[in-house]
Amino acid sequence: MKLYIIATLCVALGAFNPASQPDNDPKADFKVFIREAVKSGLDENNVPESVVSRLIDNNKLWVAKCPICDNVKAGLKSRLNHERNQDTTNVVLSPGELANLSSPNDSVAKAALKDLVDVFVQRYYAELGMTEAEIAAMEEQLLGGRKQGMGLAGGDEDFYCASCDGACHKPDKE
Ligand SMILES: [Zn+2]
Repeated sequence: MKLYIIATLCVALGAFNPASQPDNDPKADFKVFIREAVKSGLDENNVPESVVSRLIDNNKLWVAKCPICDNVKAGLKSRLNHERNQDTTNVVLSPGELANLSSPNDSVAKAALKDLVDVFVQRYYAELGMTEAEIAAMEEQLLGGRKQGMGLAGGDEDFYCASCDGACHKPDKE
């Protein structure tokens, strides 16, 4: 009897698939988009868990409550305890890139994180097969998110948020 109940519950939970809800459409909402872009990019690049947890734990890389930072982090967190692809030939990032992401030097780690987010966002546009108009609308939303993040960081335009700049495809700071 117990088993029957558990089986029924599993079926019911399986039928409830949040991904099919329109609220969770990555093309419609920049927060969903950025989170899924990071998840998908990490999977595709088989980024080691040790590198991912270092990024999450380095508070200097993030702006608290920034909608872009929060969702890049959520994407990274989904990678922890993830059933890993054991094929290590799939690691696309070079040892140098991985070392930079884990660097104790915050500006090195920030630049590496920015590049990573940038690459993941660009590859996710392609993966979703988004049209130019859809990409332009998403870029607009992402810029709005970045503006919000910058406001939380004190509104200093020289302040550099790695996730926000990567998501918005901003050129490197001189
Ligand atoms: Zn941010």
